[in-house]
Amino acid sequence: MLEDIRKILFHESTILSRLDELAHEITTDYRGKDITVIAILNGSFVFMADLLRRIPLPLQVDCLSVSSYHGTESTGHVKFRQSDLANFRDRHVLLLDDILDSGRTLHAIRERLSSDGALSIRTCVLLRKQVESVREVDADYVAFDIPNEFVVGYGLDYNEDYRNLPFVGVLNEDAIRRGQ
Ligand code: 5GP
Ligand code: MG
Repeated sequence: MLEDIRKILFHESTILSRLDELAHEITTDYRGKDITVIAILNGSFVFMADLLRRIPLPLQVDCLSVSSYHGTESTGHVKFRQSDLANFRDRHVLLLDDILDSGRTLHAIRERLSSDGALSIRTCVLLRKQVESVREVDADYVAFDIPNEFVVGYGLDYNEDYRNLPFVGVLNEDAIRRGQ
C-alpha cells in the first residue's frame, strides 16, 4: 500500500494541528447556536471524527452518503444513497466533505438541504483543489489548499482502497493504472 504513494502531502501530525485551528474558528463562530453537522460519506469519516472531537459545543451529527467519482474521474452526476436526513429546521447546518473539486457535490447537497428550513448552511472541507474554472460553490472553512492531483488517505479512496492511510498522499501512476 505504501509503495503506491508517490508523495505525502500532509502527515497526520500536520493535519491534526491544522484541525486544532479550524475547530477553534468553528467553535468561535457557532457559540450559542444549535448546530447539526452533516458529514458526506464515505470520504469524510476520518476528518469528521478528528474535527468534531475538537469542537466543545453541543451538536448533533448526521451522515449523507453520495457518490460522483468512478476511479479518478468525476462522473459529473451526484447520486444520493439515502432519502431521509435529520430534521434541521431552525438549526444551523455545517456540511463536512473530504475534498472540494468541481464543487458539484456540495452544490447538489446544498440545493437539496436549502428548502428544508435550516437557519444557515455552511461548508467545511479538509482539502480544496486548485481548479482552472470557476466553481459552483466555494467552502466556508478549508483546512488545506492542494494542487490539482488525485489524492488518497485520511478517509479518501481510490476505488475504495487507501482510506485507512493516516496521511494524505498522491498515488503513483502504476497504482492508478492498476485500478483502471
Ligand atoms: P466535486 O463534486 O467537488 O467535483 O468532487 C467532490 C468529491 O469527489 C469528493 O467528495 C471526493 O469524494 C471526490 N474527489 C475529488 N477529488 C478527489 C481526489 O483527489 N481524491 C479522491 N480520493 N477523491 C476525490
Ligand atoms: Mg467523497
